[in-house]
Amino acid sequence: MPISNAEWEIMRVVWAQEQTTSGEILTVLSQKTDWTVSTVKTMLKRLVDKGYLTTVKSGKSFIYSACLTEEDAQNEQADELFAKFCQRKHRAILEHLLDSTPMTMADIDALQALLLTKKASAVDEVPCNCTPGQCRCKEHVEVSA
Ligand SMILES: [Zn+2]
Repeated sequence: MPISNAEWEIMRVVWAQEQTTSGEILTVLSQKTDWTVSTVKTMLKRLVDKGYLTTVKSGKSFIYSACLTEEDAQNEQADELFAKFCQRKHRAILEHLLDSTPMTMADIDALQALLLTKKASAVDEVPCNCTPGQCRCKEHVEVSA
């Protein structure tokens, strides 16, 4: 089950704090939400049920920690976003992201190096991976013609 936008807010606190409590999460999120401690506790329970968090009891409080890394979750979210669009449109999304992302010279060098290694696996044409009827790619137009 995917992490909802609200649950994502909780996960970000857990990743940043590494080990945290519902009270600490509420304090952080009171800067941007009007959630109550019961809202936070409900979402914490859901995240434990979904397997994204583990909890141990320590005295009177429960300590929460993440079961997946922020980097893995970040990649999952990015894959989910890209899965919503035809593979042939991915380059346009990447161009948009590159254009709007602030970058250091080192970031640009790293991306340039990555692009150079991509040359070894370049394809002649990016295949469309859509369900026919959900995309206007040439190969689908040909199938229905
Ligand atoms: Zn397509």
